[in-house]
This record gives sequence, C-alpha cells and structure tokens, in this order.
Amino acid sequence: MEEGARSCLLRFRHRLEQDIKPSYLMDHMISDGVINVDEEERIRTQPTRKDQAVALLELLLRKDNRAYISFYNALVKETYDDLANLLYDDLPQISANAHKTIGAMVLSEGGVPQRPVVFVSRPELLNRVRERLYRLQKEPGWVTVFGMAGSGKSVLAAEAVRHQGIIEECFPGGVHWLSIGQLDKPDLLVKIQSLCFRLEQSLDSQSLHRPPNSLDEAKERLRFLMLRRYPRSLLILDDIWDSTVLKVFDIQCRILLTTRNRSLTDSVSGAKYEVEVASGLDENKGLEILALYTKTNPQGLPEEARSIVRECKGSPLVVSLIGALLKEKPNRWRYYLCQLQQKQFKRIRKSSSYDYDALDQAMAASIEVLPDEHQELYKDLTVLEKDIKIPAKVLSILWDLEPEEVEDILEEFVNKSLLFVDSHNKPYLYYLHDLQLDFLVEQNRTQLEVDLHTKVVRQYQQHYRDDPPTSGDEECLYWIRFLTYHMARANLSQELYSLMFSLDWVSIKAQIMGPAHLINDYVEYGPILDKENSEVRSQFQEFLSLNGHQLEQRPFPDVVQLALSQPPTSEVYRQALLQAQDRASKG
Ligand code: ADP
Repeated sequence: MEEGARSCLLRFRHRLEQDIKPSYLMDHMISDGVINVDEEERIRTQPTRKDQAVALLELLLRKDNRAYISFYNALVKETYDDLANLLYDDLPQISANAHKTIGAMVLSEGGVPQRPVVFVSRPELLNRVRERLYRLQKEPGWVTVFGMAGSGKSVLAAEAVRHQGIIEECFPGGVHWLSIGQLDKPDLLVKIQSLCFRLEQSLDSQSLHRPPNSLDEAKERLRFLMLRRYPRSLLILDDIWDSTVLKVFDIQCRILLTTRNRSLTDSVSGAKYEVEVASGLDENKGLEILALYTKTNPQGLPEEARSIVRECKGSPLVVSLIGALLKEKPNRWRYYLCQLQQKQFKRIRKSSSYDYDALDQAMAASIEVLPDEHQELYKDLTVLEKDIKIPAKVLSILWDLEPEEVEDILEEFVNKSLLFVDSHNKPYLYYLHDLQLDFLVEQNRTQLEVDLHTKVVRQYQQHYRDDPPTSGDEECLYWIRFLTYHMARANLSQELYSLMFSLDWVSIKAQIMGPAHLINDYVEYGPILDKENSEVRSQFQEFLSLNGHQLEQRPFPDVVQLALSQPPTSEVYRQALLQAQDRASKG
C-alpha cells in the first residue's frame, strides 16, 4: 500500500475503529476480491464489534492499494460518508496509469525478473509467445519456450508477460516466477515449499501452514492453491532440465516453461504449445545491443561491429559482454574483434551444440579489464552452485569486506554483464548465468577449486566463530543450506564430521529448512561421513527419518526431547542427554 494511504489509515485508525461495522464492509471487500473468506471468518469470530474493527484495520494495513480503495468504496456504499471523506484525499491515484501500476505490481510480487540493463525487443518471437499464452486464457496447459543456453529464453519469457492485456485477460490470478535449473529432489521440494509459502503468505500473512514435507504432498498443496486460491494464474518455470520436475507441476494449471530440451512436456498431460528460440539474435538486433551500449545509432557503428555480432553467433549474452566492454573503451572495436577471433580456449563440451568459443573469449576479455584484485574476487564465484542467487552479505563474509564495498564491486560486475541482479528482492540477490559459471569452473578446475571452497569455509568459521547463523534471513539461509556442500568440496572431512554429527546443527538446519534437506545431506555426504564413523552417520539419519514429521511442525518441537527417545547407545541420545543435564544444572 502506498505510504500516503497507509499513513491516512494510521491517523484515523481510532475514529474508524470506533464507528465501523466490519461485517457489512467485509461483504463488499470480499466481492472485490481484496480479502478472502478465511480472513473474514477470523475477523467475524472476534468477540466484540470493536475487536472486529481493530482486526479489520490491522489486516487492511498489511494489504495493497486495491484493498484501500475497496475499503473506501465499502464505506461509501454503507453510507459512512464522514469516514469516507477522511480517506478520500489519500486514495491511491486511479489515473490512466493505475492499471499499469497494478500490472507492474503483479509482476514484481510474482518475482518476474526485470529487463536486462540493455534490452532489445524481439517482436516476432515475443508475439509468438504471447499468442500461445492467449491460448491458455480458457483452459490450462503448457507453453514451452525452448532453445540453446544463453539465447535469451528467460528474458523473453519475462517480457511476454509484461503486457497489460495478457495479465488482465488471461491471468488475472497473477503470474508467479520460479527459477528451477538443475536440481535434485530435496532442492525441488524446498523450491515448492517456498512457492507455497509465498502464495499462502500473500493471501494471508498469518498463515501457519506446515510446509509440505514430500514431493507428493507439495504437489497436492500446489494443486489446491492453484485451483482454489489462484485460479487463472500463470506459473513460469524457468530453465527446466528434467521431466520429473515437470511431473510435480502436472496439476492442471497454466504454465510457461523455458528449457533447452524441447520434448520435456511429452510426459505431462494437457494442452501443449511451443515456441522455438532457434538461433540467437538476428544481426540487426545484435547491432542494436552494441549501439545501445555505446550510445551510438546503429548506422553509425564502425565496420567491425557486424563482424563482432557474427563472431558472437548472435548470442545475446556474448554480445552483451562485448557491448559492456565497448561502453568503457569505445575505441577498441578492432581489439575486441581480434580477441573474439582468437581460439584460445579449446574444450570439448558434450552437453550442447552451442559454440562456446565466443562466450569464453568474451568472458576472458571482460574479466581481464577488471582491476587485479577484483579479478580474484570474481574467481571466488566459481564455488557457487548453479542457479543460486546470493545476497551481498554472503560475499562480504567471503571477501572480508564491508557490505557497502561489496555492493560497489558487484555493481561493477553487473555493469560488465559478468553478473546479474534480482532487484525485486530486498536485499538484492546476485547470480551468474549458467554458461558463466561453466566458464569459471572450467578455468579453475582441480586444486584451485578445492582452495576456493576452503576459503569459503574458513571465512565462514572466522565470521561465525562465536555466533553461528540461526535466523531465516537470506544470509543465514545461504550458510545453513550450503556450508556442508562447501566443506565436502573442500575435502574438509573433519569439519564436515563435526558439523553433521552435532545435534545443534541438526536442530538449526531442520528448523530453518525442514528435515528433507538435512536427510539429503546425510545421503549425499554419507560416503565421506562413513569414513569417520558409519554408525554415528546412520544414527543421525535414523533419528531424522523417524522424527521427520515432528520436525515439520510449527511451533518447532524441542529437539533435545525428541532425541532423548533414541536408544541410549545412539550418539544422538548421548548429545541430547548432555544438553538436558546442562539445562537441569542451569535450572
Ligand atoms: P537463456 O534463458 O536462454 O539461458 P537469458 O534469457 O538468461 O538466456 O539471456 C542471457 C543474457 O543475454 C541475459 O542475461 C542478457 O544479458 C542477454 N539478453 C537476452 N535477451 C536479451 C534481449 N532481448 N536484449 C538484450 N539482452 C538480452
């Protein structure tokens, strides 16, 4: 809700609470779709009229502009003219732009990424995607956008829904973006858990649903949410690799997906449409990107420009890297063309027909122009997992720099198209394109990679020496999720044992992420842990499997109590007993 509207409600809150009859007003608000029946029920069951009014105001303050407008209209209809007058001056603008704003809000709330800094439209492709989306207006189904890595599928998908008509006519229930990438089942579960959480929260911020604890349960929860609570909404699944992932979303809803693999939807049911992003950009679009970066008009570009676009094979990602370089050094057209033509990186890649040479050359050139110390910092990003977005604070620990300094460095990377930023999220989240991560991993294979992971763990240990992360904010979440991964990749087995054989860690991770992820850690790192003590490993794993259901509950159970019901020979029991004794001695 706009600041002005919120402030007005706060100012007149007591007057409103004194006078209004919530049950009448709520009828109008329900039919406007700004509150739901559960919310109404919760308010209606408050003991007195005044309590109900207090609860309604409380709810309203957490809602958006539309709710304010609906509340205002309800006051008018119920002839509370005096009260309506109080709110009138701060009514959010219902100008010609209001629709636009609502559209933009829908996209931002749904996590749809913004345009890249430099953007060219691809009208033909765009129309093709939109035309397919219109076919989902009347019935559920799938639209697949497929093509090579880096060809601009995600940018296209986001652009396709940046259209008032599509949102209003086809997906009035909203648009929800989910980045998928290559992931295993526990990660997929976590993704869907957070999607469900997001969907439930925006309906009702006090929702206390337990997160679904298996993929089957997640599928059912999502089915319910999409069918009942978000009918006629669109889910965008970005970068799907595996058809087993799609099966979880086979719930009769409307889906747009991007993928490198055309035939993914073969295994799911419903209407299916597709759009191929066959080649990269056509030449003129490539030139347009270069022109935008260098602030010239396309006719005024030097003769090398065309050759550069050709060398980039039309890849928007590669053209953007070169464009960003030229922005800083506008007289280096020939130089960068020569760099692209060098065949310095000889590698065989199996996964795709994509010609990586151009990307590698462009990446190398972009990294080369960074100051030496920033080149080192960029190299550190090699340790990130694919498709993971991180807040600056995590890097501030890794690099041992002030967060502000880190933000400046990241901005430099973003300006060079070496990194991307999701600025819907607060704090901002940063991520690499898959192909960029491939490049880094390829460059820093073997020992270097081990060293880099070791650095992550050491920096973590130093920073969190006295106070391990326990909250669910983005920064802590990163460590709780990925610390074991970094330890394993760094061959720091000792560290991994002491972490994973600790009831405290189990308790923290289960509380923040749920037990599925934790169990997966024991399976994935089982071979390493077993070298230390396979019995203890299986004792922890057993404890988690037996108590998985309990550990899903909120409020979160007392883990020490749960652990005390393990056999006395179990390490889990031993640690719990120590903690129980410690508690007793402290009274
Ligand atoms: P894909 O999803 O096919 O792997 P993306 O959509 O992520 O590819 O695009 C990769 C990069 O290419 C983007 O981050 C952006 O820098 C650039 N890019 C893609 N499409 C466009 C476009 N229409 N205009 C400008 N740059 C683009």
